Amino acid sequence: MTRYIDVINVQELASRLGVANMMTEMAGFIREDYLRWEQFQKSPRTANHSDVGVIELMPASDEKHYAFKYVNGHPQNPTQGLSTVMAFGVLAEVATGFPILLSELTVTTAMRTAATSAMAAQALARPDCRSMALIGNGAQSEFQAIAFISMLGITELRLYDVDPAATDKLESNLRAWASTGGTDQTLTIIRSASTAQAVRGADIVTTVTADKTKATILTLEMIEPGMHINGVGGDCPGKTELDRRILEQTYQGNTRVFAEYLPQTRIEGEVQQMDADFPVTELWQVLAGHSQGRQSAQQVTIFDSVGFALEDFSALRYLHHVALEQGVGSEIHLVPQMQDPKNLFGVVAPRTSSLRRAA
Ligand code: NAD
Repeated sequence: MTRYIDVINVQELASRLGVANMMTEMAGFIREDYLRWEQFQKSPRTANHSDVGVIELMPASDEKHYAFKYVNGHPQNPTQGLSTVMAFGVLAEVATGFPILLSELTVTTAMRTAATSAMAAQALARPDCRSMALIGNGAQSEFQAIAFISMLGITELRLYDVDPAATDKLESNLRAWASTGGTDQTLTIIRSASTAQAVRGADIVTTVTADKTKATILTLEMIEPGMHINGVGGDCPGKTELDRRILEQTYQGNTRVFAEYLPQTRIEGEVQQMDADFPVTELWQVLAGHSQGRQSAQQVTIFDSVGFALEDFSALRYLHHVALEQGVGSEIHLVPQMQDPKNLFGVVAPRTSSLRRAA
């Protein structure tokens, strides 16, 4: 039987374990898999674009497990009452191809993205970071904020969105989360009047805006020595958030850019704005100790996040583990399991069918 985890099951896991704990544990699974980088079959995701969005398939596998995620990105969806990003995925056994898990991945993608961002910042940002500007206060933003509070020790958040209602929502969710024991730290939440105001003096800047365009959320003038930029929203061809001049600072050695999986990031990330030989370091190299991350307290580090299939592989692996441990989710007949596997017709022959849905 295949384990099935839906949105209600993830809600149940989050209420038992806490979102911050889940992201911290998930980051542990992601790190473990990043450290096994060379054991994975990897490829850039397959993206089908339309004028209004993109639908993508993201596969990854090692010698034991195969995983894929279906995910979309439609920035105008909220105007129709739908999320910009929606996803589900499967974890299967490589030995047989049997799908052991079918799971929701919309909420889980937000958790795995934030867990990856925080894991990258642990490796790249200055160790004394306490404040973060959060530009784009939509669906991903609470998860980003909570992961950075829990995993980096961020205590001051500066929020900005072109839509003040999104900032209202983020602020009220964070205050409720903090007041119900989400964090032991005293949290300072500042609403900013512009991106420039939010970014001024911040240790870390997270951009997580959605617009299918080459946007300039951050300009070179906003960047201060020693900042870490966690660029999450630019994740598609023609969809970026950083002024090209920020990336160009790399040639002077003032800035270093890090990516998940370069063959995909060169197509989808901020570095799509640059030539194919633009210097970028893959994150796993830093995690594994093969490459230095930040080289000085003054250097600007950029994590050019686009979301890589390996992180979904790890998230599915984590969900499977925690769902079994917590007894959450259900068992479903996603594929037939028969006494005689050659008698597939027996499944649809009414009198002989051995599969019955429990009443
Ligand atoms: P969302 O639509 O819920 O929120 C996006 C927010 O950005 C909105 O509130 C919007 O008002 C705001 N915004 C748009 N333009 C802005 C601007 N110029 N300045 C300030 N705010 C602006 O979307 P979401 O689910 O939060 O996703 C945000 C982005 O992150 C999307 O582009 C999505 O594709 C991307 N994403 C990336 C990853 C990854 O792994 N890198 C994972 C998930 C989502």
